[in-house]
Parts: sequence; C-alpha cells; structure tokens
Amino acid sequence: MANSTADMRLSGGHPALDLVNTVDSRRGRWGPDLLRSFEDLLILTDRLGLVDRQATARLRRQAEHDPHEAAAALAAALELRESIYRLFLSENAGEAYPIADLRLVEDHARRGRARQVLTRNETGYIWMLPFDNLPQLAQLFAVYAGDLLTARHRRRAVRECTGDNCGWLFIDHSKSGRRRWCSDATCGSLARVKRFRSRMKVN
Ligand SMILES: [Zn+2]
Repeated sequence: MANSTADMRLSGGHPALDLVNTVDSRRGRWGPDLLRSFEDLLILTDRLGLVDRQATARLRRQAEHDPHEAAAALAAALELRESIYRLFLSENAGEAYPIADLRLVEDHARRGRARQVLTRNETGYIWMLPFDNLPQLAQLFAVYAGDLLTARHRRRAVRECTGDNCGWLFIDHSKSGRRRWCSDATCGSLARVKRFRSRMKVN
C-alpha cells in the first residue's frame, strides 16, 4: 500500500487519472488520502514530469511563504480530483458525464488555458503554464482532464480496477481491451491468489 505521492504507483496511464489515484483505495473503504499537503501535489507533478525543477522550487517557496494560499490550492485540487473521478467512473459505467463535474473541470481548465504561453522545448513549441501561482497546479490537471474527455473517440476506454479495496482508474491499453486491474503485479496477482484459495476450499 502506498503511503504518499512519493511512493504510489503511477499506473493510470494519464496524469488526470494518476491524480484520481491519490486516494489509495476507493472500493470497499475510502482512503488513505495521499494528497495531504500542497507539497504532496508538487511531488506528484514532479514525478509525472509535468513541472520542471525550477518551477517546482519556485512553487515550493511560494507555498512555504503563504501556507493559507497553499491550503486553498490543495483544497481546489482535491475538489477537482473528485470531479475527475466521477466523470471517468461514469465513462466506465457507460453513463453520461455528470454536468456539474464537467463544468468544474471546464472552469479550472479555462483559467489555466488563459495563462498558457508558447514555450520552446527539445522538439519544438508547446503550450506551457508559467507556474507563477499555486492554483495553476489544479488548472494543469484540469487541462489534462479536458484533453482526455475530448479525445474519447480516439483513445481506449478508462476503466475502474476491480481489485479488492482498489478502484483506481486507468486507461486500458491491453490488446483485448478487457483489462480488469490497475496493475497485474498487485491487484491482478492478489485476485488470482484469492481465486486459487477459494477453489482449494471447494475441493
Ligand atoms: Zn487496482
């Protein structure tokens, strides 16, 4: 079991889903929540390669300087995370996306998009957030979530892991398109052990 964003598995296959998966267990019981501070969020964006070292250090200094602002930015990210969770849980269930959650993602993403600047990287120019204030981390995830929503017709489905006490979301890149677990090595192997044990009991 993961204890923090520093050691959690990043198995969502997309940044927006890895944000959702910062609740270690969503089935059966809820929690623990691995996003307990703005620093936890910074560790996640760093591990996902979304924010460069310089910007991470800058945001860290800002958060230390203004804990109130950092707490508000974390609260916004948590609210956004739950909206993204409900949106893709609906997709997994084959239901329509909930409107209130769509609007929340849209609101954060719009503010993020308005701040993006064209920046040069190794391959050319890309749209980047300047990361000059703390709410931009939530806005960044909202932009990613919006991209995932609008790419529905050209990507694989988002699925919910069926492992006991898991419920993490992931993009199903498997050949069959019927992957059931966020990770074969953890939830998948646990399920196989359980099935084996229940067979042994019957015989
Ligand atoms: Zn799982």
